[in-house]
Amino acid sequence: MTDARRRSGPRAPLTLDSEITYLKGAGPAVAQRLRTLGLCCVRDLLFHLPLRYEDRRRHTSCARLRPGAEALVRGRIVAVELRLAGRRTLRVVIDDGSGSLLLRFFHFNPAQRESLREGRWLQAYGSVRNGAAGPEMIHPQYRVADDAEVLQPDEHLAPIYSLTTGITQQRLRGLITLALELAAADAALAAPLPGLDGPATLDALRAIHHPKSDAEAEALIERRHPAQTRLIREELLAHQLGMRLLRGRLKARPAQAMREPGEAVSALLGVLPFAPTSAQRRVLDEVARDLAVSRPMLRLVQGDVGSGKTVIAAAALLAAYRDGLQAVMVAPTELLAEQHLRTLSTWFAPLGITPLFLSNRVKKAERTRVLQALAAPRPAIAVGTHALLQDGVEYARLALTVVDEQHRFGVQQRLALRDKGGELAPHQLIMSATPIPRTLAQTLYADLDVSVIDELPPGRTPVTTVALSAQRRAEIVARIGRACAQGRQAYWVCTLIEESEELNAEAAEATAARLRTELPQLQVGLVHGRMKPDQKEAQMRAFKDGTTQLLVATTVIEVGVDVPNASIMVIDNAERLGLSQLHQLRGRVGRGARESQCVLLYQPPLGDMARARLETLRATTDGFAIAQRDLELRGPGELLGRRQTGEIGMKLADPVRDAPLVQMLQPLADRLLAERPALARGLIARWIGDPERYAMV
Ligand code: ADP
Ligand code: MG
Repeated sequence: MTDARRRSGPRAPLTLDSEITYLKGAGPAVAQRLRTLGLCCVRDLLFHLPLRYEDRRRHTSCARLRPGAEALVRGRIVAVELRLAGRRTLRVVIDDGSGSLLLRFFHFNPAQRESLREGRWLQAYGSVRNGAAGPEMIHPQYRVADDAEVLQPDEHLAPIYSLTTGITQQRLRGLITLALELAAADAALAAPLPGLDGPATLDALRAIHHPKSDAEAEALIERRHPAQTRLIREELLAHQLGMRLLRGRLKARPAQAMREPGEAVSALLGVLPFAPTSAQRRVLDEVARDLAVSRPMLRLVQGDVGSGKTVIAAAALLAAYRDGLQAVMVAPTELLAEQHLRTLSTWFAPLGITPLFLSNRVKKAERTRVLQALAAPRPAIAVGTHALLQDGVEYARLALTVVDEQHRFGVQQRLALRDKGGELAPHQLIMSATPIPRTLAQTLYADLDVSVIDELPPGRTPVTTVALSAQRRAEIVARIGRACAQGRQAYWVCTLIEESEELNAEAAEATAARLRTELPQLQVGLVHGRMKPDQKEAQMRAFKDGTTQLLVATTVIEVGVDVPNASIMVIDNAERLGLSQLHQLRGRVGRGARESQCVLLYQPPLGDMARARLETLRATTDGFAIAQRDLELRGPGELLGRRQTGEIGMKLADPVRDAPLVQMLQPLADRLLAERPALARGLIARWIGDPERYAMV
């Protein structure tokens, strides 16, 4: 079948633009799978860069294993035990003469069990942990043999690529090797890039995929290889180009200019039960100016949790409504959408405006009514979930979209929103509760205008934060018992203890079970990442309405959800989290009139970095100060910016770590777009494909 297709396929020679199917060893099935990784043509393979490297070039002796590090170990199997009590576990102990190592498997088949026999040799590669009885590895990669000599270390550093089902590292490495061979004939890749020094792109790619020497390998692991530096700059440049191009494209579309957005702001301020902060006032002005222009607003509003972003959204929605237009506000969860509906309904009631609401839970008759209202050329304000973006929903005059907690939405949803506008492009207001320093904002949001609300409304009782050793856990539990007896509510956050969400969920379940026995008088809820969205929502709802008093959660707990009565937060193993994440978690308390406490429980002894993080958190509640400190504290290579990186889809650059480079690249991006547009487009295609892929708006 494959052969037949290939015979009838094009005779044209293979190039980097050929589809991957035409490579030897990649049939349509493989190509289909690779497409889910965004790999379509041969060039894409070149730029599918290793996530990291595994160094299996030498054995580490058991006696020298360091917890937290990855290691290759070879030893003789000295014990095999199948435990059936509790979680079914296969435990295998190997010994290499210097010491022993425990391997634990939760998933295993009979053949695997059979092959792991005492007396055989085993070579394992994995991450070392400090177990109850010495070093251990959970689900390591391994091979077994009867003869130790069969189990040899690798010759080269092994690049590790992101994979998809049915594609192995082996397969991907083979295809990338073929792609590199083809790339040798590509003049553009071999040519130097004006403005960027260092090796040519092709040489850099070769070095990164196939490190040749030990020296290269070390440099790559430490991320100081010139090939990496060179490609990081090229990638950042490509993103700047892509975002500029996208912005240009969006701004080129006509939008509905609103007549008096400033008056809408005044009207809103007239009905609010409080005066705006000066930061809110400034951002309201910025938004009003954008709305008065016949080019679409592309504005990101950043403001810490509780800084009052909803006011900004309300003013924009009102401006559209007063001009006879339609405006929607989309939230990532049902609960948040309902919260917005309540707020906006209260504020708009004196103005005689009733917002519409749409989510998947809205019943058929009401849904029909909402859809009809939106399809009619009448002013409307609609609040809801992504149900507002579905295919069946049509807008007669959509002029503004507000997206709350932007990072929670997928690209497809955001694009759907943009396309609902018809002839005129809707104005876009995007809200984010992740405060990020200015340099980083320039990297991540070069396609947007950024407004910052850097001030909290007055009269908040600040959250008191204490860091306590986990040895004092019992005291905390007792305190929670007393507080809940007085009608307060508390969160207990279990932090990431494992790479695997499965083990995390288990840890949270165990914590909830333990707290239920310790505090039998309380109703204890539980949310974690392995639950279905409606299960999660049900748990959040029960907590919000007070059915449960203590909520045990992994770090997945909903952003933005307001449970004003929750005034205590305990964060287990707080030393493991980054500053920004701790700050986001803490933002969930301190929303009511009551004084709130945040307890950071840590496992002693505390390292210097962890101590500095907890100290910062104790000392300040200012999100921007914390974000700045976070950047300073981050060691190179620390992957705390993962969410941002994932969001924007960078392959090699880390927008957090590499933000300072961007400033230098901006003039270069402007120059290339103006003087070498073809080259600019080539770079974008090389690194990003279609810039719409990461469109924020
Ligand atoms: P964010 O979405 O930025 O986290 P919200 O818009 O939900 O914050 O506002 C948090 C709380 O503060 C809400 O109860 C809101 O009504 C209130 N609030 C907002 N602005 C002010 C202000 N200027 N003065 C007093 N309270 C305010
Ligand atoms: Mg909000």
